[in-house]
This record gives sequence, C-alpha cells and structure tokens, in this order.
Amino acid sequence: MADKTLFEKIADREIPADIVYEDDQCICFRDINPQAPVHLLIVPRKPITRISETTDHDANILGHLLLTANKVSKQEGFAESGFRTVINNGNDGGEEVPHLHLHILAGRKLNWPPG
Ligand code: 5GP
Repeated sequence: MADKTLFEKIADREIPADIVYEDDQCICFRDINPQAPVHLLIVPRKPITRISETTDHDANILGHLLLTANKVSKQEGFAESGFRTVINNGNDGGEEVPHLHLHILAGRKLNWPPG
C-alpha cells in the first residue's frame, strides 16, 4: 500500500492540526503558515493527487469541496465579508503537497492578480 500523504495523516489524527470541520468525505483545518487572517485547507479524505489527475468519477467530491467552502464560510463567519478559494496545481501553480486541497483565504482584502 502507498505511504499516507501528509494530509491523510492529519485526517487520521496522526499529525495534529486545528480542525474546524469534517464529514465523511473531507476535512477542513487551519493552514500551518497562514497567508491571511483566515487560511483554511479543505482536503478530500480520498488521496486524489491534484486537479489535473481527476476524472469524471471525481465530480461528486469536487463539488463537495466547494459546497464545504460555502458551509465553512458561514460557520466561521466570513461568508458576508468575502473570501477566496484557490487550488494550486503542479509546479507553476505552486503546489507543495501532492494531495488535492482547496485553500480558503479570508479576513483581509486580497489583491488581484495574485503574485
Ligand atoms: P500547496 O502549496 O500545496 O497548495 O499548499 C500546501 C499548504 O499546506 C501550504 O499552504 C502549507 O502551509 C500547508 N501545510 C504544509 N504542511 C502542513 C502541516 O503539517 N499542517 C498544516 N496545517 N498545514 C500544512
């Protein structure tokens, strides 16, 4: 069996994290190196590597990640002020952890375009 990814270890409570939400399909926790006052990661329990390796079979979980962003934004109180969702893919996209994750950034006015 393949080694667990860093984020699977967090989901399995083998590595500590500040978890704010979880359900049967995903887990949401605070980024260890926040780039905004609120910086959350939403991670599918299934170890999908990255967006460019998804297939039609992943349509449900991909939708679920965005719906979870909506849910967590209300739970954590930044739905009204606004937030940004980001998925980094591959080298040029700035991906560091090869387990799909949706960043949520909130709590300050974010610049556009990103760096
Ligand atoms: P990526 O660059 O792959 O899109 O994002 C990976 C994110 O995971 C980074 O923002 C990084 O700070 C975060 N991260 C890396 N290791 C850990 C960890 O052990 N715990 C938590 N909570 N976040 C991590």
